[in-house]
Amino acid sequence: MGLEPGLALRIYFPTQSLNTRFMLTISLRSIVWLLWIKLMEIIKTDRLVKDYDLGKIKVRALDGVDIVIESGEFVAIMGPSGSGKSTLMHIIGCLDSPSEGEYYLDGLLVSQMERRKLAAVRNAKIGFVFQSFNLLPHLNVLKNVELPLMYAGMGSKERNRQARNILDSVGLSDRLRHKPSELSGGQRQRVAIARAIVNSPSILLADEPTGNLDSTSGGDILEIFGQLHRQGNTVIIVTHDPNVAERADRIIQIYDGKISDGDILG
Ligand code: ADP
Ligand code: MG
Repeated sequence: MGLEPGLALRIYFPTQSLNTRFMLTISLRSIVWLLWIKLMEIIKTDRLVKDYDLGKIKVRALDGVDIVIESGEFVAIMGPSGSGKSTLMHIIGCLDSPSEGEYYLDGLLVSQMERRKLAAVRNAKIGFVFQSFNLLPHLNVLKNVELPLMYAGMGSKERNRQARNILDSVGLSDRLRHKPSELSGGQRQRVAIARAIVNSPSILLADEPTGNLDSTSGGDILEIFGQLHRQGNTVIIVTHDPNVAERADRIIQIYDGKISDGDILG
């Protein structure tokens, strides 16, 4: 972490007494330490509120959510249906903005960002996997996975090479020309994961990714997420599955739009 603080102080404060030098060293060390902790906080929310306005009635889907997730963590989000899990994931994934509160992504305040800027941040940092896959039905597997690279402005040759590599890593190199409708659920979800990770985002979000799969395909999908986590990525999965939760470093429980006590800092 650069110059050793004690040495730096001896250069800059050669005439200080030993005691003062000691105190300055300690405070410099704490500042470096605090900066390091700040850098590790890849996701931080401060009293997030999300209201859905349905004319006469207003639904408060998130009601003051404070979470901190560190870079490289594997977090499971659990909670009953309607508790606000998808709403929270959409905000964390920069697919939606909160009504109130602040959201810092990698130190950047994104909660009040306008849509186009938000989309750019999303493309650079986040891969999102949906329960229902959300693949484009008229495009083949290869083209579906090339899409984010096309949005990023990559040339067709490099795009093709990169998409093939990623599809190979999820075990689908023999299905490149198939349409999504010609694949099993587990294979479709593997295509969706390949699409989510093809431009190397450091954060992978998945909203009930194994919800529509049998247990074998679900296990394969989990294995891929585990591997991405071991490679140093931050992985956040919404799940009802205790097997998924068991693999996570930490579980965040959400009820009625609030994080339940004790799960905030893990
Ligand atoms: P979960 O993913 O935990 O099942 P959601 O985040 O989807 O929960 O929903 C939380 C609450 O917000 C629910 O009461 C739901 O009905 C409501 N909600 C979600 N999306 C919308 C929307 N687009 N319009 C209105 N209400 C919504
Ligand atoms: Mg949901």
